[in-house]
Amino acid sequence: MTTITRFAPSPTGRLHVGNIRTALHNWLLARKADGKFMLRIDDTDAERSREEYVEAIRADLAWLGLAPDGEERQSQRLEKYEAAFEALKAAGRVYPAYETAQELELKRKIQLGRGLPPIYDRASLRLSEGDRAAKEAEGTAPHWRFKLDHEEPIRWEDGVRGQQKFDPAQLSDPVIRRADGSWLYMLPSAVDDLDMGVTDVLRGEDHVSNTAVQIQMFTALIAAAYRAQQIPRFAHEALLVGKEGKLSKRLGSLGCDAFRERDIEPEALVALLARLGTSQPVEPIAHRAKLVETFDLSTFGRAPAKFDDTELDRINAAIVHQMEFDHARARLPDGMDEAGWHAVRPNLTHVSEAAEWWKLVIGPIAQPEFGEEDKRFLAAAAAALSCGETPWQDLTASLKESTGRKGKELFLPLRQALTGMDHGPDMKELLPLIGEAEARARLERAAAS
Ligand code: GLU
Repeated sequence: MTTITRFAPSPTGRLHVGNIRTALHNWLLARKADGKFMLRIDDTDAERSREEYVEAIRADLAWLGLAPDGEERQSQRLEKYEAAFEALKAAGRVYPAYETAQELELKRKIQLGRGLPPIYDRASLRLSEGDRAAKEAEGTAPHWRFKLDHEEPIRWEDGVRGQQKFDPAQLSDPVIRRADGSWLYMLPSAVDDLDMGVTDVLRGEDHVSNTAVQIQMFTALIAAAYRAQQIPRFAHEALLVGKEGKLSKRLGSLGCDAFRERDIEPEALVALLARLGTSQPVEPIAHRAKLVETFDLSTFGRAPAKFDDTELDRINAAIVHQMEFDHARARLPDGMDEAGWHAVRPNLTHVSEAAEWWKLVIGPIAQPEFGEEDKRFLAAAAAALSCGETPWQDLTASLKESTGRKGKELFLPLRQALTGMDHGPDMKELLPLIGEAEARARLERAAAS
C-alpha cells in the first residue's frame, strides 16, 4: 500500500517553525516510503480563513522544497462531511445538544470546584423526544456531539509514543458541528483522512487526545459503510520549544519570512528541523536524499525539541561553506565570480555577507596607520610583488628571505595594507582577485602614508 501522509494547516495565519517541522516530517516520511505527501487546507472556519494565507502556505512550502503531491481543501468537501454526518446520525453516533456556552462553562466550574475532571455530562443525550421538541419550539438550534463508545479502552501503537491507551469515559463527547451548521475540526479531518487514503498521520502531541476520539470516528465511519478503509497509523511528535524550554510567543510567529529576512538557507532550516528532538545528530546536510534516507520515527524522543537560533546560524554557515557558486550566484554582488565566491565563502555565516567581503577586493579600503618600520617593509613588499601563479606565496616567501620577518609580523601588515582588515578570507585567494596593479597601489599607499 502506498504511504500517504498529509500536512493540514488552517489558513488562519502564516506557518510558523512548529508547523514547518510537522510539514517536513510528513514530507520525509512520504519520500522515504516512495509515497505521497498531500497538502490539506483546513479551511472550514470561513471567518478566520484567508486566501492570502493559503497562498502563503503554498509559497512557504515551495521555498522549503516541500512541494506537495496534491492538494485538498475542506471548504470544497462540505457535502462529504454532510454525508458522513448523516451516516453517523443514522448509526446513533451523533446527538443534538442544547447547552449554551455559558451553561457549559458553569458546569465546568462546578465540576472543577468538586475536584472532578471537566467532562461533558451528556445531559442532552438524556433528553426525551418531548424535551427536544420543546427546546426547538423555543427556537434553540442544537449543536452536535459525537457519542463516544464507553465500552472499551481506545488503544493504538503510536509511532513515537509507543502503546497508547485512553479510557473514553474520561473524554467529553466532542462537539463536531456548531448550531449554525459549520464544522469543527474533528469530523472533517477523519473523513478526509479516510477519503484521501492517508496511511500515516504524523502531528504534534497536542493532538493525542484528538486521536483517541478520531479513532472512534474512523471505526464508526467504517462500520457505517461510509467507506471501507484502514484506520491510519498515528505518530505524535513532541512539541518544539524555545531554548529556554518554553513554548514561546516568538516561536509561534517565527516563519519563513523571518528566516528569509535573516538570510537563512531553506536547506539549513530543513537540516536542523529534520533531526531536532531525535537521537540523530543535527548536521549540515544539504542533500535532501540523505535526510530522507536517514529519517526514522523510532529516533524521535519524547522530550520537547529545543529550537535555538545560534544552532540554526551554525548550520547555515556550514551549509554556505559547501554551497556551489551556481546556487549562490543570483544573490552575489556584481562582478563576483566563482573564484571570488570560493575566496569569501569560508568566512560567511549568511550568503548576504559576501557583499561586505567583496568590498575588500573591489575597494575602496580604509587602511590603518602603520609605524615607520612597517612602512619600509610595505614598500619592499610593493617592489617584490609579482604576478606569478601563486603571488601571495611568492611575495611572503621573498619578504621572509629579504627581511627575516615571519609569522604575524610578516603577514599582518600585508593583510592590513591589502584589505584594511586584521582578518578575513585567505590571502592566497584574495590577492589574485585584487590583482597586481591594485595590490601594488595599496601597498605603496600604505608605505607612503
Ligand atoms: N488543522 C489542524 C491543525 O492545524 C490539523 C491537525 C491534524 O494534523 O490533523 O491543528
